[in-house]
Amino acid sequence: MTTVQEANHALSKILDTGSQKNVIELGWIKNVRVAVPRSIITLALPTYANSQRDRIVQEARKILLNFPDIEDVQIELDNSAAQSNNDESNSPQLQSIKGIKQVIAVSSGKGGVGKSTIAVNLACSLAKLGLKTGLLDADIYGPNTPSMLGVADENPKVNGSGNDQRLIPIVKFGISIVSMGFLIEEGQPVIWRGPMLNSIIRQFLYQVEWNDLDFLIIDLPPGTGDAQISLAQSVPIGGAIIVTTPQKVSLQDSRRGLAMFKQLGVPLLGVVENMSVFIPPDQPDKTYEIFGNGGGQLLAEENQLPLLAKIPIEMPVVRESNLGIPIAISDPNTKSSIKFKELASLIQNKFKS
Ligand code: ADP
Repeated sequence: MTTVQEANHALSKILDTGSQKNVIELGWIKNVRVAVPRSIITLALPTYANSQRDRIVQEARKILLNFPDIEDVQIELDNSAAQSNNDESNSPQLQSIKGIKQVIAVSSGKGGVGKSTIAVNLACSLAKLGLKTGLLDADIYGPNTPSMLGVADENPKVNGSGNDQRLIPIVKFGISIVSMGFLIEEGQPVIWRGPMLNSIIRQFLYQVEWNDLDFLIIDLPPGTGDAQISLAQSVPIGGAIIVTTPQKVSLQDSRRGLAMFKQLGVPLLGVVENMSVFIPPDQPDKTYEIFGNGGGQLLAEENQLPLLAKIPIEMPVVRESNLGIPIAISDPNTKSSIKFKELASLIQNKFKS
C-alpha cells in the first residue's frame, strides 16, 4: 500500500518556478493523507503563488494517480497563506503515536445512534481476528464504553512521575481500553471545552502506554465539536467511520459530521448504518424496518463513500451490553456479530500492508 512518506516523496518533485524549492518543503502542499483508494492533500499557496495553482494541482493529481492503489485525489484548500514548514506558526503538525499503526475514528452526527456500540464491537471483532487493538473512549461527555465492556469499576494505574507519567490501559477481551469514564466520578457533569479538552485528548493519545497496536479505535463524542477538531489536529487518522440510522429525514446531523471531517482533511472510510432492521427474538427470520430505510446508502452515495455495514437491531445487543459483554464476544452467531466481524475484516484488509 502506498505510504504517506512515498506520497510526500513523489510530491516533492513539484517545484516552485521562482525559488526552485519543492512544494512540500515550502508547505504549499501539506497534510498528505493516504486512505486507499483515496489520497487527500491540503493546498496552502501564498497569494503570490496563485498563478501556479492550476499547474501544481494538475501535477499533484498526476503524481498521486500514478500509484497503482490510488484512484481518487481530493484536494482541500487552506486559505491562510502558506508558511514555510520550519515556521512555528504553521498549522499544527500531526504527531503519530509511537507503536500504533492505524487510528480509526468512529463518529456520528448525533447521540443515541449506536456509535459506542459500533466502536466497542468493532474493537472486539478486530481483536478476535488476532489484531492488536486499543479503544480510546474520547466521548468525554458520555463515556459509556467501560460499562459496555464490564470494566467501569476499574482504576487504571499510572507509571512514572511528572511529565513522564503514563496511564496503563485496562485490558479486557484482548483490547487495551482507556476512557474518561475511568477518571471521572459517575454522574459528574464534564464541562471541559476548548484548550482543556484539547489537553485531555492529547494526554489520552500520547501519555498512555498503548504499546504496539495494529488499530486504535477512537469513540468520539457525537457532533462537530472541539474533540473532533483536537483529534484531527493532533494525530494522523487512518480513517473515520460515520455511524447513522436508516432514517433519511435525520441525516442532516450526519451530513454535518461528515463535512467536518472532510474540512479537517480526515480521510473517510465510509458509513455504517446501525439499527437497519429489527429482528424479533422469537421470529429470527423476520425483519422490520422500524426506522425506515435507505439513510446509510443515501449518505454514502452523496459522498461517494462505501456503505461499510448495515447492523440490525437485536435484543441481545442491548442485554449483553448492559451486562458488560459486547455481543461480538458473547454470541458470535447473532446477525449483528456476523456483521461486526465482516466490518472488522473489511477494515483489516483496507490497511493490509
Ligand atoms: P451512541 O454512542 O451513539 O450514543 P450507544 O452505542 O450508546 O449510542 O447506543 C444507544 C443505545 O442503543 C444503547 O442502549 C445500545 O445498547 C442500543 N443499541 C445500539 N445499537 C444497537 C443494535 N444494533 N441493536 C440493539 N440495540 C442497540
